[in-house]
Amino acid sequence: MNCLIDLHLHIDGSLSLDTVKALAKIQDIPLCGDDELVKKLKVSPNCRDLNEYLEKFDFPLSLLQTEEALEYGTASLLRELSQKGYIYAELRFAPQLHTQKGMTQRDAVIAAIKGLESSDIPANLILCAMRSDNNFNENKETIDIASEFLKKGVCAADLAGAEGLYPTDNFRDIFEYARKKGVPFTIHAGEADGAESVYSAIDMGALRIGHGIRSYEDKSLVKKLAEMKIPLELCPTSNLNTGVFGSISDYPIMEYIKSGVVVTVNSDNMTVSDTDVKRELELLRRTFLLSDEDIKALLLNSARSSFADENTKKELTEKINSNFKMQ
Ligand SMILES: [Zn+2]
Repeated sequence: MNCLIDLHLHIDGSLSLDTVKALAKIQDIPLCGDDELVKKLKVSPNCRDLNEYLEKFDFPLSLLQTEEALEYGTASLLRELSQKGYIYAELRFAPQLHTQKGMTQRDAVIAAIKGLESSDIPANLILCAMRSDNNFNENKETIDIASEFLKKGVCAADLAGAEGLYPTDNFRDIFEYARKKGVPFTIHAGEADGAESVYSAIDMGALRIGHGIRSYEDKSLVKKLAEMKIPLELCPTSNLNTGVFGSISDYPIMEYIKSGVVVTVNSDNMTVSDTDVKRELELLRRTFLLSDEDIKALLLNSARSSFADENTKKELTEKINSNFKMQ
């Protein structure tokens, strides 16, 4: 399968084993053996637990606390995507989680933008604000930086973190600020929390919804998503890992498609979930007996729903229309 696009991909959860080893070596950080390392970075195949899932970010995050490391990690991830047949990607990370060793949020973003520069496929960054207590200033700084580097490597902002603990509605002020600054944004919603969270995100002005998979719990919300043409960034395996669904056959993607909701298929965290967009699409194809045309339509949705400029979107669409191959 070629012409792949990922619109929902966290850098820290997607570093390959080789990249992790290289980053540890450069920084003189001692490493365990391969088996131990895999356990540290990937959830077990039958993981259905959010806590186990979240633990897997600690180690890669600790390796991404310098400018060199962040640039290297971003560049390596893009090289891997290009080799796997991707034509575009939006990589996201939370600059405020990269300040443990004194790097500023702004320096972190500049380093990641440098990592984009060596890429042979077009790519952009999404900067995540974080759900937490008392971090309004850090989130505001993230939005300011997104505004400064908008269309210069950054394409949007996001809200990430524990949706179950910190309701979406608590972050109205920060996204009101993003709107005033003209920064487009997506918001993780309808993953750990239900339809109410997605309603808040839409009301706050989110142009896409990260996951949004629990929107089906409220039929009028599904109608609203379809009418407003707000795309969902679906990440099936990640939702299985965190226990949102017990089995892929329960995954409501067909309900959304039939209701006219724009759905895109993404990997969320390639390493933590041991996946990529190709695997996600193949999983959906096998489970719901999708045709080649259905898969192509999903990729076209991704091209059109991206935060890239209109020219890039047009090029991506043309590429998929003329080059897409299932094999
Ligand atoms: Zn995510």
